[in-house]
Amino acid sequence: MKQFIVKPKTKVKLSEWDPNDTGDFKGGKKEGLAQVEKLNGRLETLQELLFAEHRHKVLIVLQAMDTGGKDGTIRRVFDGVNPAGVRVVSFKAPTAEELDHDFLWRVHKGVPGRGEMVIFNRSHYEDVLVVRVHNLVPPEVWSKRYDQINEFERMLAENGTTILKFFLHIDLDEQKERLQARLDDPTKRWKFRLGDLSERQRWSEYMQAYEDMLNKTSTEYAPWYIVPASRKWFRDLVISSVLVDTLEGLEMKYPEPEENLDRVVIE
Ligand code: AMP
Ligand code: MG
Repeated sequence: MKQFIVKPKTKVKLSEWDPNDTGDFKGGKKEGLAQVEKLNGRLETLQELLFAEHRHKVLIVLQAMDTGGKDGTIRRVFDGVNPAGVRVVSFKAPTAEELDHDFLWRVHKGVPGRGEMVIFNRSHYEDVLVVRVHNLVPPEVWSKRYDQINEFERMLAENGTTILKFFLHIDLDEQKERLQARLDDPTKRWKFRLGDLSERQRWSEYMQAYEDMLNKTSTEYAPWYIVPASRKWFRDLVISSVLVDTLEGLEMKYPEPEENLDRVVIE
């Protein structure tokens, strides 16, 4: 899955990244789904270990265009993980109080503590995406935010946070299909916003903003992955694999009990 990582200081062009790509994976959907299920089980164990060890902090950032699959990813990748062990933080348009503070204020409050795994459903990156595309602040304000974000994430990493960032990459055609599906399915209609159509018209501006984000904020300590996300099963496979590999790399251990329990007899 290393091929989907954005190497620090390289320039990516999103038009060269195929949203339908399935990388080196030889199998099809059936094999992919079976793998995801296996990874679900490993993730469950690793999450328990993370909690028990109470040392590392894990932050997962999800960014995508509308219909890109953030909600589906959370549902599928964390299927089986103890709900007590993960926290989802969703970022909507900021409140008046949030707007009165610096853009990282509300974000810092949501970051994981020791033993915790937090998923950001949208994130501080909206402040260089929607905010930039809609001119919600002037360029001299948003343009400084890339460095500010890198410094913020460096601080989190230096304080024991493992950060993984996933951009779910779909194209305009795929979005059209997914928006249409929302219109056609009475159980999905509630998700449809007319505003999604005006955002869709700004697709190329968004891609420009996403490219800058990927190019300026993928670091050794907080890398971006560009996840081919047209095939949902492959999207889930990439993210599950990266997560499991990364957590295994932490070499976590169950803590020793405080006292010697070998002689304990329970009457
Ligand atoms: P959804 O994820 O579909 O529930 O939509 C959340 C909305 O909040 C999206 O339209 C985002 O663009 C918007 N949003 C999130 N963060 C910000 C931000 N910092 N500034 C402005 N809009 C934001
Ligand atoms: Mg939406």
